Amino acid sequence: MNNPEQRKLKARAYKSEIKPVWCPGCGHFGVLSAVTKALAYLGLRKEKVALVSGIGCSSRLPAYIDVYGFHGVHGRALPIASGLKAARPDLTVIAAGGDGDGFSIGGNHFLHACRRNMDMTYIVMDNQVYGMTKGQASPTTDPDWVKSKLTPHGTGIPQFNPPAIALASGAGFIARGFSGDPIGLTRLLVEAITYPGFAFIQVLSPCTTFRPEQKAWKHQVHSQVLETTDDPLDAARRIHGNDGVTTGLLYRIEKPVMQPRTTTGTVAELRSEFLV
Ligand code: SF4
Ligand code: MG
Repeated sequence: MNNPEQRKLKARAYKSEIKPVWCPGCGHFGVLSAVTKALAYLGLRKEKVALVSGIGCSSRLPAYIDVYGFHGVHGRALPIASGLKAARPDLTVIAAGGDGDGFSIGGNHFLHACRRNMDMTYIVMDNQVYGMTKGQASPTTDPDWVKSKLTPHGTGIPQFNPPAIALASGAGFIARGFSGDPIGLTRLLVEAITYPGFAFIQVLSPCTTFRPEQKAWKHQVHSQVLETTDDPLDAARRIHGNDGVTTGLLYRIEKPVMQPRTTTGTVAELRSEFLV
C-alpha cells in the first residue's frame, strides 16, 4: 500500500480542481482536508484509490478528490463499493456519505456491509439532518428537534446510534471522529484505511445552515481517554455509556475478511453458467 515515491505528494495534490459548493463553515470541508492528508500520509497512488458515494451534500466528496470516484445513487454507496472491491481487490476502496443517505435508505446495506467485512473504509459525515434537501430529520436527528417544517413537533422517535448498530452488526473497526479536529480525524482515517476489513467511521460534521447549533460541537466534542478495546461487551458499555460526542477508536478486532471469488469470464460464459 505504501509507496515511497508517493510520499512526495502533499495533501493538496489529492484535491481536484473542482471548488466545493458546500456552505461556508460546513463541516465537510474538514473531512475533505483529513481524507487528503490521510492519503498523502499513506503515500497511496491516486490510481489505486477509489472513492464511492451516494447522494447528499457529503456525497459530493468524490468530485473534490483527485482519485477515481463514483457519485452513485441514494443510499447505495456500499453496494457499489462492495462490487468494486470484489472486482478490483487491489484498489483501496473508500465509501462516503451522510447520515440520511447511509442510515435511512442505505441502512440495510450498512448492516450487511458490517457483517460481510470486505476490506474498505466507510465514512459517514453525520450532521443529524438531510442538508441537501433543506433540513428534514434524518435517522440520527434527536427526537425533539423542532426546526423542520416537516416535523414541527419533533420526530418523537429515538435516534439511531450508529456505532452501536455497527457493533451489533459485526463490524470489526468502529470509530468516531470530528471534522473540527483534522489531526485526530486524519489519524483515525489512516488507521481505518490500513485496517484489514470493513472500517466504519462516524464523523461529526456540522451542518451550519440547517443545524447552526452544531457549531457548539467545537466546545463539546472530546476524545476518549481510554485505549480502544477488542471486547465487544466493553465496547457496548462504552458506546451506550458515552455522550455521543466522544471521539476515538471505539472498537477494533481482527476478523476474517471477505473477498468474493470473481470471474473473468465473458458475458456469454456467465450466461451459460446460470443456465446449467
Ligand atoms: Fe453543509 Fe449543511 Fe450546507 Fe449541506 S446544507 S453544504 S451539510 S452546511
Ligand atoms: Mg446529513
